[in-house]
Amino acid sequence: MDYDLFVIGAGSGGVRAARIAGGHGAKVALAEESRVGGTCVMRGCVPKKFLVYAAHFAEDFEDARGYGWTVGKSKHSWKKLIRNKNAELDRLEAAYGGMLDRAHVALMRGRARVTGPHEVEIGGKRVAARNILVSTGSRPFIPEIPGREYAITSNEALDLPKLPRRIAIVGGGYIAVEFAGIFNGLGAEVILVYRGEMILRGFDHDARAHLQAEMQKKGIDIRLGREPVAIEKKGRKLVVRFHDDTGLEDEGVECDTVMYATGRRPNTRGIGLEELGLAMAENGAIKVDQWSRSSVPSIFAVGDATDRINLTPVALMEGHAFADTVFGNLKRPVDHESVPMAVFSQPPVGSAGLSEERAREKGFRVDIYRTTFKAMKHTISGRDERTMMKLVVDRASDRVLGAHMVGQDAPEIIQGIAIAVKAGLTKAAFDRTIGIHPTAAEEFVTLRQKVPDVEAEAAE
Ligand code: NDP
Repeated sequence: MDYDLFVIGAGSGGVRAARIAGGHGAKVALAEESRVGGTCVMRGCVPKKFLVYAAHFAEDFEDARGYGWTVGKSKHSWKKLIRNKNAELDRLEAAYGGMLDRAHVALMRGRARVTGPHEVEIGGKRVAARNILVSTGSRPFIPEIPGREYAITSNEALDLPKLPRRIAIVGGGYIAVEFAGIFNGLGAEVILVYRGEMILRGFDHDARAHLQAEMQKKGIDIRLGREPVAIEKKGRKLVVRFHDDTGLEDEGVECDTVMYATGRRPNTRGIGLEELGLAMAENGAIKVDQWSRSSVPSIFAVGDATDRINLTPVALMEGHAFADTVFGNLKRPVDHESVPMAVFSQPPVGSAGLSEERAREKGFRVDIYRTTFKAMKHTISGRDERTMMKLVVDRASDRVLGAHMVGQDAPEIIQGIAIAVKAGLTKAAFDRTIGIHPTAAEEFVTLRQKVPDVEAEAAE
C-alpha cells in the first residue's frame, strides 16, 4: 500500500478527515481537481458571508442618521468587493495548503478516479491505499427547462463582472433567500420566484412567515406558487416564463440576470463508483452507515456526497468522526441529532432543535413561547424591522425542543442557545438564567407568556 488513506476532494469534510487521520499517524494523500477549501471556502459560506456584510452597510448608513451621523452620498463598487473577497480566498487557500503540509498530507492536483476497492488513479498514475474517502461534495442543480443555459448559479453569482440591475432568483431555500438579501442590499431589483407557498420549507413556520414579511418590507418582490417553465433571451434581456399554481401561464419576469438556487446534487458521477457497484441513491448520494462506511468496506464517504445534512459543520463532524474511528481507535459514530442551522438572510435566521411542526409530527404536546419586538437599535434608527424569537417546549418534560430566531445576530445568538437545546435543558433552566441587559438575546430567558394553544382549548 502507498497510503493508509486516500481522500478525494479537499473540501471541509475531506480536509478535516485528512488532517485528523494524519495526526493519528496515518500516511495520507488528498486529491483535488479545483481549489483547496472546496465549496464552503471557495464558492459558498465564506465568500457569501463577505457579500452579506457588504450588503448590510446600505442599511447601516441609513440607520446611522438617527444616531446623529451625517453620512454623505454612499457609492458601492462591486468590482472592489469581488477583488477584496478573492484576495482573501487566495490567502485562505494558501493557509489550507500550509495546514495540510504541516499535517504531512500529500496534496495531489488533478481528478482522481476510484479503480478498485484499494486503488485510485490520478494523472495517469495508480495509487494503492488501504482506505479511500470520497468527499467530493455537491454541485448546483438546474432543472431541465428550455433556456436553462442562460441561468447562473451561486458559483457565478459570487464572481459576476458587475452587479445585476434586475435579477430573478428561482428557489425559496437557503441560497435563494441569502442572495436575494445580498443583491437587494447592494441596490439591485430582486424578484424571488418560488414554487411553494412560503419560503424556507423545513424551517419553523413562524420563522418563515416572519422572514418573508421582513424581506418584502425591504422591497424584495416575492412571487409564490410559481414554477418556471422557460427562460427566453430577448436582446440583452432575459424573460423567465412560469406557470402559476393553477397551471396558467403568467406574464413572466423580465430581468438582466436569472439565478437558479434550486438545490444541489451529490458530485459522485464519473469517478468510478458506479463501476465498482457502490450503493448509491438515485440522486447520486453514496449510501453509508453510521461510521460513514459505504457498501464497499474499504471506501468511506462524508459530506454532501452522502446527502445527509448538507452543512459544512456536519461534514467536518463526519470527517473527524471517520478519522478518529478508523485511524484513532476511538469509535465515534456520526451524530446528526439537533444540528443548529442559520440562514444569512437579511435579517438572518437561527434555528436549533425542532420546529413547532416537526415537534408535533413527532408526537410531542408542546407549549409555544413567542415574542416579536422592535430591536432597541431601531427605536432611534427608525427602521421598521421586527425581531421574532420562539421556544418550542415539551409540555410533559418541560424540555426545550426548539429555539428559533429571526433578527439581527440570530446565528450568533442561536449558536449559544443550541448548546442548551442539545443538552436537553428545560424551560425552567432557561427561566433560572439571568439575562444580559440590554440585549435582544435576553428575551430567550425572559419568555413567560405561552401562545394560546387553540387546539387544546378547542378540545376542552
Ligand atoms: P435548498 O434545498 O435549500 O432549496 C432549494 C429550493 O429550490 C427549494 O425552495 C425548492 O422548493 C426549490 N426547487 C427545487 N427543485 C425545483 C424545481 N425543479 N423547480 C423550482 N424550484 C425548485 O437548496 P439551495 O440550492 O438553496 O442550497 C443548497 C444547499 O446548500 C442547502 O440545502 C444547504 O444544505 C446548503 N446551504 C446552506 C447554507 C447555510 O447553512 N446558511 C447557505 C447556502 C446553502 P421546495 O421547497 O418546494 O422543495
